[in-house]
Amino acid sequence: MKLPQDVKAYIAKKVAVRLTICLLLEAAAVVVVMLWGRKLLASVKTGITVLCYVVFFLLPFVFSGVPLKLIDRTWYGVVEKVDVDTTYDNDQPFKPTLEHFYLKNTVYLTVKEPDTERLIIKKVYAGRAKLQRHINTYKKGDTVFHLYGSQHTIVLPIAHETHVQCAVCGAMNELPEIGEGEEPTCHNCNLTLIRRIK
Ligand SMILES: [Zn+2]
Repeated sequence: MKLPQDVKAYIAKKVAVRLTICLLLEAAAVVVVMLWGRKLLASVKTGITVLCYVVFFLLPFVFSGVPLKLIDRTWYGVVEKVDVDTTYDNDQPFKPTLEHFYLKNTVYLTVKEPDTERLIIKKVYAGRAKLQRHINTYKKGDTVFHLYGSQHTIVLPIAHETHVQCAVCGAMNELPEIGEGEEPTCHNCNLTLIRRIK
């Protein structure tokens, strides 16, 4: 799969930023522990001290999204099956009461990867059911594409289709008239629109 150069550069930068943030936070954590660690945890048992250190040093990973975000990958394929899972969820961190619950839709795609013929199942959307978002976006036979690090999974346009979603930012774009050898760019993020897999 050949990705446009500007899109590749964008992803590389995004990964570098995440890793840098993670390393800086980790360095800050080391400084905090060296300066105040002993004082703060002076009165607790050794086991709890170790646990506190472990949790503390894991925090930078949580905040920077490393490595969870980094295990994402670019993938594409043909949709074999669309599953919408409707469940109850809530936004309350503690003890939600009945009125905090809402219906949530999670959209899963079963996709056949053309290169390996392998079936993969991917979660492409989760959100409040009443918004009905992405319920009708995907259908069997669509070719879908997901870019590493992006929150979106786009449907690649078939011939004569006039719109395409940006694989990076998710904005919907009207396909402009373009000359031979030119590639259209997104009106929102200015990166090259991915219309087909090369
Ligand atoms: Zn865009």
